[in-house]
Amino acid sequence: MGESIHFSQKNSFVIFLVKIVEGKLNNLWPTHNIVYICVKMSMYELFYRISHWGPIIAMIIINCITFSTLQVTSMWLPFFSSWSAVTCHLLFLFLVGCTLYNFFCAMFIGPGYVPLGWHPENIDECRYLQYCSLCKGYKAPRAHHCRKCKRCVLKMDHHCPWINNCCGHRNHAKFTLFLISAVCGCILSSVLLFMGLYRAFRVNWYFLYGDHQYIVYLTIYQLAFTVFSFGLALGVVLAVGGLFYVQMKQIIKNETSIENWIVIKAVSRPQSENGTFIYPYNLGWWENMKQVFWYPQGNGLTDWPIVQDCNPYTLTIEQLIQKQDKKARKKQYTIVKSYNGSWFPLSKGIRTCLSPPCSDEYRIPLSIGDKVYVTRWRKRWLYGEKCNTSVGSEENDTKGWFPRCCAVEFTTTDGEVTKIAKKLS
Ligand SMILES: [Zn+2]
Ligand SMILES: [Zn+2]
Repeated sequence: MGESIHFSQKNSFVIFLVKIVEGKLNNLWPTHNIVYICVKMSMYELFYRISHWGPIIAMIIINCITFSTLQVTSMWLPFFSSWSAVTCHLLFLFLVGCTLYNFFCAMFIGPGYVPLGWHPENIDECRYLQYCSLCKGYKAPRAHHCRKCKRCVLKMDHHCPWINNCCGHRNHAKFTLFLISAVCGCILSSVLLFMGLYRAFRVNWYFLYGDHQYIVYLTIYQLAFTVFSFGLALGVVLAVGGLFYVQMKQIIKNETSIENWIVIKAVSRPQSENGTFIYPYNLGWWENMKQVFWYPQGNGLTDWPIVQDCNPYTLTIEQLIQKQDKKARKKQYTIVKSYNGSWFPLSKGIRTCLSPPCSDEYRIPLSIGDKVYVTRWRKRWLYGEKCNTSVGSEENDTKGWFPRCCAVEFTTTDGEVTKIAKKLS
């Protein structure tokens, strides 16, 4: 549990809160008690993970939908009115329980990290791997560095703001089960809320001709809250349902979102004389599902089962080739207009604001005269890495997107850059 904790300096408020709870715990158990140690570690993990907008909003949404559904359903389908009512209520509560259980498991179990300073047992094999300068170690096959977790994550899929953690090797199953239980719960909730709202809007008809025992009578605030919750439930079905569909498609191929992108690039890359690229982890759909859902086997570092004609480093070698290709393609740009790293830089024009890159990758602040190696091009945005950044500077400050209008391709001299910058300002 302790290994998965990573605190940033910014979280001093969280640490302050934990200190208060720790003070209370000290009075309950002596500090060497294993229960104390476990509870204390969990407290850190709990406060750190929960004190973020993602889990807070997710909890609010789950609470709104659950409360509203139970309130309205108890009016037209009370718990003990029939066997179908009991089944309906229990099924809904079961789905809410599954959603919360898998949500917290995905959040607290975490994806698992590559140990700091890690290298394969056989040092010769290091040449097949990428080096992470932030974790001061090699990236294991399938691992990637997460800038938000500030660690290399085992079989990283993506960083999910809703669980304020990465989705990876250890929590992939829990995360996927969280998605499916949330979708099923919200489908049932949408149906129950729709029936309740229908009866609420036709309350006069039910009062005259229906069963008086099961009238849905809502005040204007209750009605507004129910309509809001119904909208939320439908939104979850569509958005989370879409995410679940994409996740399952990838799990069936034993790919993560990042590996999916690597495979697309590998297939479209002109193949060398070494032969065509074979994705090494696709063992057939049933085996692939087992890899994720029948508790992830192995240490998540180098012991991944692979298909014939591949070796444990087939994917990492492909990644190194793609990195070389990217390096060869990069172009140097000079910054002629400063940029503060804003996501909606109004001063750079409305069209720049309206066509942002569809990615939550960082935006890098830049000053006039900075040099940037650009590796990705969009019509109004560029992605690149600042050149000659000081040693020890955070990766977050050196790589990211910035508006295209702030840069010119490096064919000009420093004097000309100053002239262009003056003209633009
Ligand atoms: Zn790393
Ligand atoms: Zn992460």
